[in-house]
Amino acid sequence: MDISRRSFIKWVLAGAATASPFGCGPGSKDKPSGASAPSVPAATLGSERNKDCHDVRDGLLRSLPPPSRSLDVVVVGGGPSGLAAAERCFGSDFLLLEKDDHVGGNCWTETWEGLDYCTGSAWLSLENDEVRALFKRWGINPPIIKGNDSAHWDGKWIKDFWNSDPDFPSYAQLPYPKSVQDDFRRFIRDTAKLDRVKDATKLDGMAFSGLFSGYDPRVQQYWDTFGPSNWGARTADTSALIGLHAAHEWAPCERRTFEGGLGMVTRQLFAGFPEDKKKRFITGAAVFAVRREGKGVLVSFMKDGRPETVSAKAVVMAIPKFMARHVVADIPEEQKKAMAAMRYAPYLVYNLCFDKVVWNLNYDNWAVGARHFTDFIPADWVTHADGGDLNRKQVITVYAPKIEAARADLLDDEEVLAESHAAANELIAMFPGWADHLREVRVYRRGHPMPMSAPGSFTRLQPVTQRDMAPIYFSHSDNSGTVSDMYEAALGAIKAAAKALQHV
Ligand SMILES: Cc1cc2nc3c(=O)[nH]c(=O)nc-3n(C[C@H](O)[C@H](O)[C@H](O)COP(=O)(O)OP(=O)(O)OC[C@H]3O[C@@H](n4cnc5c(N)ncnc54)[C@H](O)[C@@H]3O)c2cc1C
Repeated sequence: MDISRRSFIKWVLAGAATASPFGCGPGSKDKPSGASAPSVPAATLGSERNKDCHDVRDGLLRSLPPPSRSLDVVVVGGGPSGLAAAERCFGSDFLLLEKDDHVGGNCWTETWEGLDYCTGSAWLSLENDEVRALFKRWGINPPIIKGNDSAHWDGKWIKDFWNSDPDFPSYAQLPYPKSVQDDFRRFIRDTAKLDRVKDATKLDGMAFSGLFSGYDPRVQQYWDTFGPSNWGARTADTSALIGLHAAHEWAPCERRTFEGGLGMVTRQLFAGFPEDKKKRFITGAAVFAVRREGKGVLVSFMKDGRPETVSAKAVVMAIPKFMARHVVADIPEEQKKAMAAMRYAPYLVYNLCFDKVVWNLNYDNWAVGARHFTDFIPADWVTHADGGDLNRKQVITVYAPKIEAARADLLDDEEVLAESHAAANELIAMFPGWADHLREVRVYRRGHPMPMSAPGSFTRLQPVTQRDMAPIYFSHSDNSGTVSDMYEAALGAIKAAAKALQHV
């Protein structure tokens, strides 16, 4: 059944101008920004505001008015990095400038009929002391996600599939000959012998794909599905160090989240800030020029269609490097080149809204071999892993990372809707019963949200891209950690903010 012909299903290209739980965007909770019949794309925004940023890239924003205000610290970008950096600066005269109509960045939650769902970042682990202490101080305690991930192989879903224990029983359930099952086990055993600490630089310089020869191709196929969703790259574009890290360390770790994913973390964090500090978070403010002058920094941004400049003693750049390199003046050549060499994957995230529970097997579910998406997550698994009332409504978040060459397609509403229909059809074809209960599809698109963990990014590029340009300091998830990670981003930003405060 082709669900695009089912006219009662509402398709929404949701955008930055949709519901804002922070109350700083237009729209109200539960109210989509636009809706249309399947064949008529809604003329609404993409998920992020990109016009000002594209004008910066194209050299169109040049007006640099004199400063209207002097501050201690300006934080550029209001994702988890920016929020954490700004909080560190609460004792100073700070300002945070965020281009979108809400803070949260790629950790952003929306709501359908009272159900919170994720539009990006899904889960984290609190197994490191530093992050545990941070979340304790913030008073944020995401519940534990039960179980591992399932995977789909030729019509068979296998519960709790990937495990770094080669003797885990899931491999015996693969619908293939024993030799294939044994290759999964052998891959785990063999690669456990590689020294990920001593040979970190060497392994980071190699492609993960180089480690799969001699095993059944389905072993690599699993990672070609898993990698794009988690770090934006298939095995050929993934650092072997990072692929191995995921293969051996992710499954055993304790994962946590809220219904609504990590957008609930930024929502709770911001909600807990004092009201007088919240007024210092300016949304709809796209920064287009940051330049050192004397001992301080001038920061120019577009707000309500007009350019404005503020001066600061120090600045924290909590935005991705693909943008920072266009915005910050006089970045040393080597650093600018490293920033330009960072790669980012475009991404579509669909939320399929059902009038009853359709899935209750595992948290993250990998559709190996699917063409239009990689995995899907029932938003409410974290609270209803044990079942619950199966007549409740349910939102399924579907992840559809794209290749870099497909980036421009995301600017075209019709292309995005066509791709969304294809993805929804592909998923529904796997579960024909779902079509009768699907009520709405909400589509989010982001042009370059996912820094790719490509060979060399971690050990060669990151250390150069994040070099201090005192009193300008760089922080963002693309300069901390092996993969783009919410808590690493926040911890890195707090350190950058501490350096900025030394100038105050
Ligand atoms: C689909 C998806 C799934 C993910 N899943 C996970 C996960 O499960 N777990 C996990 O830990 N991480 C996950 N991540 C990564 C996580 O979202 C990031 O690590 C986190 O959002 C990084 O926070 P940040 O503040 O560094 O950057 P961002 O979230 O990128 O925030 C940057 C902010 O800067 C703003 N900005 C950009 N340019 C300008 C400008 N010129 N002027 C003003 N503001 C600007 C942006 O609008 C944005 O709000 C996922 C990411 C995506 C896209």
